[in-house]
Amino acid sequence: MKVAIYSNQTNDSNKVTSRIKELLVDTGIIIDDVAPDIVLSIGGDGTLLSAFHHYRDQLEHVRFVGIHTGHLGFYTDWRDFEADKLVESLKQDNGQRVSYPLVDVDINYTDGTKEHFVALNESIIKKIENTMVCDIYIKGQLFERFRGDGLCVSTPTGSTGYNKSIGGAVIDPSLVGLQLSEIASINNRVFRTLGSPIIVGKDQYLDLELRTEDRLIVSCDQLQAHGLNEKRSIATMHYQISMSKIYFARYRHTNFWERVDEAFIGGLK
Ligand code: NAP
Repeated sequence: MKVAIYSNQTNDSNKVTSRIKELLVDTGIIIDDVAPDIVLSIGGDGTLLSAFHHYRDQLEHVRFVGIHTGHLGFYTDWRDFEADKLVESLKQDNGQRVSYPLVDVDINYTDGTKEHFVALNESIIKKIENTMVCDIYIKGQLFERFRGDGLCVSTPTGSTGYNKSIGGAVIDPSLVGLQLSEIASINNRVFRTLGSPIIVGKDQYLDLELRTEDRLIVSCDQLQAHGLNEKRSIATMHYQISMSKIYFARYRHTNFWERVDEAFIGGLK
């Protein structure tokens, strides 16, 4: 087995990295950051997102394991003091894995060019000044005209990230679908949107036809997919559940709703 270590390089993460490296050398597991079977992400959920984008071209055969140096995260099953237990699990690895959906994001420019991205949490489109106006299509069918600050399309595992902060629903990651959430939509006697997040199933897809092309930014997780310096203007956006998935080496199971409770409520039990 070949293992890569991807860390956010904080003091705490560096300590865990050194301990894991020592243990791996003792077990004979090879450390290979270029073509690993397993990627150990050490930091937080943000670090796991960076690791995902770093190994994006190897998703089919790589499995991720998240080690959190703080609280337990949504993509991180292990805590920093559990290095020994984790390496024990690596030694007994039998290829077990769970997968989660990703969202394909296509930006189609008015000049006919295209860019393709994949996101693990979400893709956000926002207008920096003035109102963003776009027509929203669900599976090719016009649904509504949106006016507001922007829109967020998130995966089930991304539902607890930015999506939740803008009033989106938290989705059990065993469901496969995409959530579209509004960012400050304008709703008055003249302009109207549904005003609530919608969740479409895995066979559906979403398209946005932009009516305001300038001063837009598009992000995919932490990455800027389209920035203000971009000369091209966006004509349409296309979102669908990706054929690729992210795989996690799941050596133990933490109930999703327990994670939600611990992360956002806590203290009652
Ligand atoms: P960041 O500012 O370092 O991270 C923002 C927070 O979001 C961190 O506490 C991070 O957890 C947490 N997070 C990331 N993915 C999550 C998920 N799936 N469920 C619950 N919490 C999650 O930003 P970043 O490292 O660039 O991370 C980008 C992600 O952060 C974005 O994809 C977005 O979902 C989220 N984010 C949220 C807001 C907001 O809620 N207003 C703003 C910016 C970004 P860790 O501390 O474990 O890394």
